[in-house]
Amino acid sequence: MVSVAIDGPAGAGKSTIAKAVSERLGFTYVDTGALYRAIGLHMLNLGIDLKNDELICSALSGLKINLIFKDGVQQVILCGEDVSDLIRTPSVSMAASQISQNQEVRKFLLNLQREIALKSNVLMDGRDIGTVVLPNADVKIFLTASAEARARRRYEELIKKGIKDSYEKVLSDIKLRDYYDSHREIAPLIPAKDSVIIDTTKYTLEESIDKIENVIKERLV
Ligand code: C5P
Repeated sequence: MVSVAIDGPAGAGKSTIAKAVSERLGFTYVDTGALYRAIGLHMLNLGIDLKNDELICSALSGLKINLIFKDGVQQVILCGEDVSDLIRTPSVSMAASQISQNQEVRKFLLNLQREIALKSNVLMDGRDIGTVVLPNADVKIFLTASAEARARRRYEELIKKGIKDSYEKVLSDIKLRDYYDSHREIAPLIPAKDSVIIDTTKYTLEESIDKIENVIKERLV
C-alpha cells in the first residue's frame, strides 16, 4: 500500500487540497482531524472540563469512533451516530485542539489511523502523520501558510456554511490552536525531517493542488 502524509497547521488548506489530490490519484483521503474533533464533541456533550485529563481518560472507555468511506467521502461515526457535520463548528475545533494534548487520546486514535493505512492507498492529513502515525510514509508533505492567509480562508469557509464569526476571532483562534498544536509535549506539530515543506500563502487553490500532485508523483516514480 502507498501512503502519503500531509501535515500542517490549522487552515493551511490541507483538507481541500488533499481531497482534490486524492481524487486525481485514486487514493483514499483520510482526514484525521475529524477523529480528534469527534472526541472533542463527545467531551463537550458530556460537559467534561477539557483540562481534566483524568475525566477525559475515563470518558474514552467504551467510546466507539469509526471512519467510513462512502463513494470516497469520509464520514465520522461517533457511538453509532454520523457526526460529520456536527464536528465542524468553531467550539469543536477548539475542543479538538485541547483534547489532542492528552496522551491517552492520542494512543486511543493511533491504531485506528494505522489500520486505515493498511487497507488502501491513502493520503492522510493531520499534524503528526509523517512524524508519528506513518513514519514510513512513501511521501511526506508539510503544508503551511501565514496565519493571516489561513484565517482569511477559514473565515470565508465559515461564512459559506452560514457560521458567523469575525475575521479577528478566526485569526486569534488559529494562532491559539497553532500554539497548542506546536507546544504540546506529545506529537507536537513539527515537519518530519524527510518532509517537503510547501508554503501556500501566495498560491491559489488550483496552484497548490497542482504543486502537491506533482511533488507526490515525482516521489512515487
Ligand atoms: O485538522 P483539524 O483542524 O480538523 O484538526 C482539529 C484538531 O485536532 C487540531 O487543532 C489538532 O489539535 C488535532 N489534531 C491532532 N493530530 C492530528 C489531527 C488533528 O492533534 N493528526
